[in-house]
Amino acid sequence: MESIFDKPVQFVKGVGHKKAENLKKIEIFTLFDLLYHFPKDYLNRSSVIPAYASMHGQLVTVSGRVVGIQELKPRKNLSIIKIAVRDHYSVFFAVWFNQKHVLKQYKVGDKLLITGKVDRSYRNTVQVNVVECELIDENEDKNLLLPIYSLTEGITQRQMRVIMQNALYSVQDIKEFMPKELLDKYKLPALYDALKNIHFPEDLESAKKARRRFIFEEFFLLQLALVRRRKNLKEVKKLHSYQNAKSNRLKFFLECLPFKPTADQNRVWEEIQRDMNSTKPMNRLLQGDVGSGKTLLSALMLLKAVDAGLQGAFMVPTEILAEQHYINLSKWFEGLEVKLELLTSRISKSQRTDILHKLKSGQIDVLIGTHALLTEDVVFKNLACVVIDEQHRFGVKQRLNLLKKGAYPDVLIMTATPIPRTLALTAYGDLDISVINNLPPGRKPVRTYHITKDSIDKLYRLIKKEALNGRQSYIVCPLIEESEALEAEAATKLADELIEMSRDKSSILYGLRIGLLHGKLKVGEKENVMEMFRKGEIDVLVSTTVIEVGVDVPNATVMAIIDAERFGLAQLHQLRGRVGRGTSQSYCILVCDPKSKESRMRINAFVNTSDGFELAEQDLRLRGPGEFLGTKQSGIPKFKIADIIRDQKALIVAKKEAELMLENKGALSNEILLQELKKRFKTGLSLVN
Ligand code: ADP
Ligand code: MG
Repeated sequence: MESIFDKPVQFVKGVGHKKAENLKKIEIFTLFDLLYHFPKDYLNRSSVIPAYASMHGQLVTVSGRVVGIQELKPRKNLSIIKIAVRDHYSVFFAVWFNQKHVLKQYKVGDKLLITGKVDRSYRNTVQVNVVECELIDENEDKNLLLPIYSLTEGITQRQMRVIMQNALYSVQDIKEFMPKELLDKYKLPALYDALKNIHFPEDLESAKKARRRFIFEEFFLLQLALVRRRKNLKEVKKLHSYQNAKSNRLKFFLECLPFKPTADQNRVWEEIQRDMNSTKPMNRLLQGDVGSGKTLLSALMLLKAVDAGLQGAFMVPTEILAEQHYINLSKWFEGLEVKLELLTSRISKSQRTDILHKLKSGQIDVLIGTHALLTEDVVFKNLACVVIDEQHRFGVKQRLNLLKKGAYPDVLIMTATPIPRTLALTAYGDLDISVINNLPPGRKPVRTYHITKDSIDKLYRLIKKEALNGRQSYIVCPLIEESEALEAEAATKLADELIEMSRDKSSILYGLRIGLLHGKLKVGEKENVMEMFRKGEIDVLVSTTVIEVGVDVPNATVMAIIDAERFGLAQLHQLRGRVGRGTSQSYCILVCDPKSKESRMRINAFVNTSDGFELAEQDLRLRGPGEFLGTKQSGIPKFKIADIIRDQKALIVAKKEAELMLENKGALSNEILLQELKKRFKTGLSLVN
């Protein structure tokens, strides 16, 4: 059953081949796209003033009836169209330069609505240099508000309005797809009325009502899709079970753990176990601030799988992190006879072949790695558990590809980017969410300071002081958008300077061991540098942002960030999270000279706030959701009219209603609603297609 909404725009009167092509450039293909191309504002005719009351240079809207039309040609190549217009008080002139077509558009007697710039330099006359001119149809004169659209080349504001009128005319019988009870309950206008009132409202109040409907509609449909997907996911039965565990490594591990899990870790572990023991696959997002101890939960989950003779996969975004998790888990799993392997691009071909063989035959229990896990030849025998760390670094597709390597595996996605609730609802509405709120005990909050670049010696003195106490420092070099090579160059240059200083007896940094880490280092070199740093053989690690995520060296106490104003708040917070992981006092030093007011504000906010959630909220507000999560990867749909920050309340209500509706199966029997859903969400949202 095709809806009239699905007809191509050319179906609309006034849209020929050429206009249709132009409309495509702003993503308008169908009647639906067209009618959901909402005005960005309205021209308010009630703000019309008498022309005589206007001032020189003012931008005004005036109105009146055409009393004369004249074309002047003062010079070759210059044509001036001058239309005399009479309003209630006087006659004024509307003027166009080099726009001959105007001659054909208007005739004496027409009523015009003109927006333009006033020029009063000609004796007593008022001249209005036209920016926009509308022919007013006497019949629809009561419409005081005219829509203003964002346009594309080849289509004028006026043409767009005509097209929109025609489009509206052709959908007069459009069927409502939103449940009537909801529209009634929230006093929202029906579809056709809303369309009419958002494009050609009688007053601002009805335009507002129409907007409210479309905002709600957008959220509601999205939530319905997400909730439905989550339900569907829960309908499938997984093929594996942990019931008959063959060993008790898990128990042993917990007993030997060098620290006591925090209350939050215990609670999340309960949540995870409940999911794992259920017959339905787990799809859980674990949020916990940097350093909150998420790795422990992945370890527990993987061990539970190994106990039951099943396999686990642990995917991380960088090789450094893969290596680190491999080292940490190897240590943690010592004596437990867990067959752990690391798969990165660093290993040799024969090693790789060997690993893949063992994986397929079940001689490997847990495989840790980067994207390298995703290639087709990586085949598991019985993959039951998938852990994805620092998920914001992965695209939706990559996550899906890993899941496909098992039959409905249990999935734990971990992120240190605190995701504000509203965003979590939209971007991850199909996942269950667990949160670790509190850091392990004994951590001292990191002290954060801002210093200017010409006082960088203060930083060096701090680094020296810490080094004398056996502590280590990071210095992170500026982020250079899109260019790992330039980033590497900057880091290399700084490292060279520091090495020079470390050899100079008169320098503060004399005698310190300097290391360098960046993305352009050869395979293997990165790991060597990290290993030296981990072992304490490097005092100062100069690095690019490659260390941003996950790196865990508790002995490091100084994180210095050069040109910190170039980083987003969330990213700064990630970097700061690299220190303060042990029990000694740590420092985060921002070295920068912020120029703009905005960047000064950001730096101040960061110095004064240690709470990741609060910073994330601020970052979201400053940069918007797309930037915040990384546009391509975020999985959040683009909204046409809704705004998850401004319209939070509507979002929460929409979610509640979507859940209720699915609970009562109301939505599933509503054929026309289902169709609308299908049309709007052709592509996958966050986890499963
Ligand atoms: P993140 O959540 O950032 O991944 P990690 O899992 O790397 O954090 O943990 C940070 C540090 O805290 C690690 O050194 C880890 O061993 C330690 N840790 C984790 N849980 C606890 C705990 N309950 N008590 C003490 N230290 C802990
Ligand atoms: Mg981590």
